[in-house]
Amino acid sequence: EETSNLTVGVRVRPLIMREQNDTAVVTVVSVDGCEIKVICESGISYRFTYDHCFWSCDPHHPRYASQDVVFTTMVQPLIDKAFLGYNACLFAYGQTGSGKSYSMMGMDIEIGNTIGKEAGIIPRFCYELFERVASLGDSNVGATKCTSNTANVEISYFEIYNEKIHDLLGGSSDGGKRTPLKVREHPVFGPYVVDLSVHGVTSYEDLQGWLTVGNSQRATAATGMNEKSSRSHSIFSIILAQTQEETVEGGECHKHCLCSKINLVDLAGSERLSHSCTTGDRLREGVSINRSLLTLGKVIAALADNGNGKKKSFVPYRDSVLTWLLRRKPSTGKYFLKEIQWLFEQALVPGQNNITSQPAIYPGKYFLSTSAYYTYH
Ligand code: ADP
Ligand code: MG
Repeated sequence: EETSNLTVGVRVRPLIMREQNDTAVVTVVSVDGCEIKVICESGISYRFTYDHCFWSCDPHHPRYASQDVVFTTMVQPLIDKAFLGYNACLFAYGQTGSGKSYSMMGMDIEIGNTIGKEAGIIPRFCYELFERVASLGDSNVGATKCTSNTANVEISYFEIYNEKIHDLLGGSSDGGKRTPLKVREHPVFGPYVVDLSVHGVTSYEDLQGWLTVGNSQRATAATGMNEKSSRSHSIFSIILAQTQEETVEGGECHKHCLCSKINLVDLAGSERLSHSCTTGDRLREGVSINRSLLTLGKVIAALADNGNGKKKSFVPYRDSVLTWLLRRKPSTGKYFLKEIQWLFEQALVPGQNNITSQPAIYPGKYFLSTSAYYTYH
C-alpha cells in the first residue's frame, strides 16, 4: 500500500547587502534543531517544527547549512528512492527573494566536470545521479547468474507561466514569442505535455550545457516581461531508466527495467497580490499563480491526509496545470496499466529504437519489439 511520504525542510538565508544596509531590517528568525522560532514585534514568539531546519546565515558558524548540507539532508534520500524505481518530487516554496532559486539551482554550475561549492539541488542531484550510474556495473551473482546494469538518463526543463507551458530547452527561436505547449490527457496514461523536448544526457558535463541553455531562456523571458520569473513555476524533470540484464544458466537473458521520474520544481513566489496590481494582465498572472499554489497546497494536504489511513479525501489535481502535470501516477497496482504507462513514456523519447509504433493494440499504440520483463515499484 502506497502512502504519501512528505518531508518538509525550511532554510533561512543570510541578509543580502540591501537588507544589511537597511537599519529597519532586523532578524526575527532563529533555528533550534528542527524548530524555527519567530519573534514578532510585540515580543511574542512562535515556534514551528519541520523535518529539517537549515540555518544558512553565517558560513563560519559550525551549524551553517551549506548547499552541500541541504542536498545531503533533504535530497540524497530522494536519489535513493529514484534508484529503487520510485517517482519523486521536490518543491521550493516561498516569497520572491527568499532563496528558492539559490537552493534549487545555485551558482557555480559550470566549473569543469565537478560540483562547485555554490551549486544547488538540481546540479547536485544530476551529478550524484551520474556518479551512481557510473558505478552500476556487471556483477556475478553466484556461479550461474550474471547481471549487467545500465541506466539511461533523460531530462526536460519547462516553465508554467499564467497556466501556460513553455519549453526551456526547445530551441524554438521564434523571436521570444514562444508558442505555449499544450497539456493533453491520455485516457490511460494521464496528462502529459505535447511536444515537450526530452534530452538524453550521459554525463554531468552534458547536463551543464542544458542547464545553461534553460536558465538563460528563463532569464531572457524574465527581463522581457517584468520579473516574470517570480511569477512562473519552473520544472526540471529527470527520467531515470535502469536496465538489468540477467544471464542465467543456459545463456537465457532476462531483462528488467526500472523507470522513475523525478520532478524538481522552483515555484513562483508565494507573495500575495499587492493592491497596486489589481488590474489587467498583472491580475491574471496573480490569479493563476495563486490558483496553482493554492491547488498545490490542497493536493499536498489531501495526500498527507490520505496517508493517515482515514477515508481517502479527494485530491484536486485537475484544478491547475502544475498539479495536473505532477499528478501521481495511478497506483492501482495493475501491471498492465503500469507497463503501458512505461511504454508510453519511453515512446515519448525520440531516438529510442526499441519502440515501434503499432496500431490498435494499446490506446497509446506502442509496443516493445524486444522481449523483456518489467518490474515496477
Ligand atoms: P527566489 O528564487 O526565492 O526569488 P533567490 O534564490 O533569487 O530567491 O535569492 C534572492 C537573493 O538571495 C539572491 O541574491 C541570492 O543569491 C541570495 N541568497 C538566497 N539564498 C542564499 C543563501 N543560502 N546564501 C547566500 N545567498 C543567498
Ligand atoms: Mg527565483
